[in-house]
Amino acid sequence: MTGWTPIDCHAHTTMSDGELTVPELIELVRARGVRPSVTDHLSTDVSLAVKSVDAVRAYLDELEPYDVAIGGEFCFHDLLWRELPDDLAARFTHRIGSLHAVHVPGAGRPLSMFRRTLPDLLTASKYMDLHLDDLERLASEMPVDILAHPTLLPLPIRNLPTDELWTDAREERMVDALFDAGIAFEISNRYRPHERLVQRAYDRGVQLSLGSDGHTRAQVGDLAFPLELAKRVGAEESSLFDPFVHGTRAAR
Ligand SMILES: [Zn+2]
Ligand SMILES: [Zn+2]
Repeated sequence: MTGWTPIDCHAHTTMSDGELTVPELIELVRARGVRPSVTDHLSTDVSLAVKSVDAVRAYLDELEPYDVAIGGEFCFHDLLWRELPDDLAARFTHRIGSLHAVHVPGAGRPLSMFRRTLPDLLTASKYMDLHLDDLERLASEMPVDILAHPTLLPLPIRNLPTDELWTDAREERMVDALFDAGIAFEISNRYRPHERLVQRAYDRGVQLSLGSDGHTRAQVGDLAFPLELAKRVGAEESSLFDPFVHGTRAAR
């Protein structure tokens, strides 16, 4: 008996697109034997989200009275994280960076992971190289603790064979970028990574983080799959990302 309790580093409430209020989320996650975090969408490009610096301040004010890890999920392609003043950045226990859209040269808007088609002439293989380009930019530019759902890809290619999308070279680019930046790899329960990539991240020395990415009563605090995978690749419980021990980058 170590007294160690897992922490769900990624979950949403009604302050963005989740269905639970903050106290409801905290109670439910605790009832599952897991410590809670709130990491709502802080982005002008998510429809239900906290969308301005003033709104981020109000979000932090709202969360601070609760006994909960205070995080936020920022979109790399959005500008809000770049505008965040240091005094607000320092109030987070942890910040999460997401590639919800990827820059495609010559296209107007970044390509959303939730769009139903790829632009003409963009093959899955070409897309993946652009994806890794943006992932490297995220790692070098974004002051975040965790990369959310590292294997989330655009809908039209999401279900192609893993080995076709995730070549050794691409996986190495990802884990090298995360290692160099000191950003943790999220084992997401929602967008589940394949074991080889998690093993590669762990072997490279990248810290692992557990996240339900829960939006509903059934999802929040469900870490069974992420925890089991973390253990399978050899990670010690105490080495897993804990916002109170390893976050935030601003306070390190
Ligand atoms: Zn996300
Ligand atoms: Zn999320």
